[in-house]
Amino acid sequence: CGVFGIFGHENAAELTYFALIALQHRGQESAGIATIDGKTLYHQRGMGLVTEAIPSEHMSRLGRGHAGIGHVRYSTSGGSQLLNAQPLVFNFQRGNLALAHNGNLVNAFQLRSFLERRGAIFQSTSDTEVVAHLIARADSNDMQESIRESLSIVKGAYAFVILTDDKLYAMRDANGLRPMVLGQIGGAYCVASESCAFDTIGAEFVRDIEPGEMVVISKDGIESTRFAGQAKKALCTFEYIYFARPDSDIDGFNVHNVRKEFGRLLSREHPIEADVVIGVPDSSISSAIGYAEESGIPYEIGLIKNRYIGRTFIQPSQELRARGVRLKLNAVRRIVEGKRVVLIDDSIVRGTTSGRIVTMLREAGALEVHVRIASPPVTHSCFYGIDTSTREELIASRKSVEEIREYIGAESLEFLSEPTMMKAFGFEDTSDHGHCNACFTGKYPTEIYEDLSKMILG
Ligand code: 5GP
Ligand code: SF4
Ligand code: MG
Repeated sequence: CGVFGIFGHENAAELTYFALIALQHRGQESAGIATIDGKTLYHQRGMGLVTEAIPSEHMSRLGRGHAGIGHVRYSTSGGSQLLNAQPLVFNFQRGNLALAHNGNLVNAFQLRSFLERRGAIFQSTSDTEVVAHLIARADSNDMQESIRESLSIVKGAYAFVILTDDKLYAMRDANGLRPMVLGQIGGAYCVASESCAFDTIGAEFVRDIEPGEMVVISKDGIESTRFAGQAKKALCTFEYIYFARPDSDIDGFNVHNVRKEFGRLLSREHPIEADVVIGVPDSSISSAIGYAEESGIPYEIGLIKNRYIGRTFIQPSQELRARGVRLKLNAVRRIVEGKRVVLIDDSIVRGTTSGRIVTMLREAGALEVHVRIASPPVTHSCFYGIDTSTREELIASRKSVEEIREYIGAESLEFLSEPTMMKAFGFEDTSDHGHCNACFTGKYPTEIYEDLSKMILG
């Protein structure tokens, strides 16, 4: 998911809308905005892309509030339904509250059972709502203290934005699993999952929000406190591999540059003799350029992606697929015909994408297809908000590299190793790199409560 928040700007609703469009790649299932003018909370949510969820003619319904938060959703916990669209909004005796969350809380099920047995009635099936109930039940009358208390109970990955009648709160989990950045526009402050949102609205990047940090923005300015103790930093490496936009900077590294470096290192680790390097658009282009530069094999655009296929496009029937109806990707025959191709993809999850592309390249006349993946094999599930599926669905948890090669039908297949991947960030000591690589290693930075029956309630 993607989150955004802004405080102290007369165009809060509009800026939130444009920021969400910049964060659209982080979630296409639903979108929403909540704004506040000091006494009334306005909100709009809907299914689909930002422009579908909030048609421009509905923007006036967001009032003229000076503060707003927004969310684009990609579901990993709770189904893809309107009731799970965020921001979630609540009205307590203490006032209005809207909240939006990127990440996944690993003990949400446990906390929800606890809260329901004590009378809480949930309006959604998403893990995020647990936090609202915890805030409502907190002992303190002070909102900041209530948020702090609630977040000390939840475990997992999050970038949270919370809007109340007079403040905007932004929190990043203690391990810093999910990214969040602070920006400034005119006299107003804003926060976002990725810095590309700031570029889009003309805000200036100030800094990354620290793991375990709470930033509070109000008419009195900005205040930073810590709500969580020191934990081992574990930023999600998948943000760089696939999830984030190449023009974003996360924790000091530009995403495009990191991907390009993955490509260079991949070429050194797994060289091959070939005529042309091509990348799978869009997320693998940077790595393909890096591979080409390092190997000296020319980079070419050998695959074209149709940009106009939305989430709801009609899947071609099996018969049409067999006849080669290709909506999303097509090979450039003149580029690949008669060539030995190095195909770069960012990751293999279930193994379906690479298999289809290898077939497509062969049908377009490629002589050999050598697949190089700019990340290690995904062998473990993610519990922190990236949908890398269940363990059974992960091809690398069941098959060896050689078996995957055979399955996708390539001449050769190699993955970037985990230690080498970390070198892209300049870490020579790859044991203490401050990243989460759990889906490649199984070393989770938090408890994961995988076996729900083992959870202790209360
Ligand atoms: P596979 O077909 O192996 O299951 O998926 C791998 C492809 O999906 C890669 O080309 C990669 O760009 C893309 N991918 C990687 N991670 C994700 C993810 O979390 N969600 C989605 N929708 N695609 C992903
Ligand atoms: Fe990211 Fe993988 Fe860790 Fe999930 S398990 S947070 S996808 S590195
Ligand atoms: Mg891809």
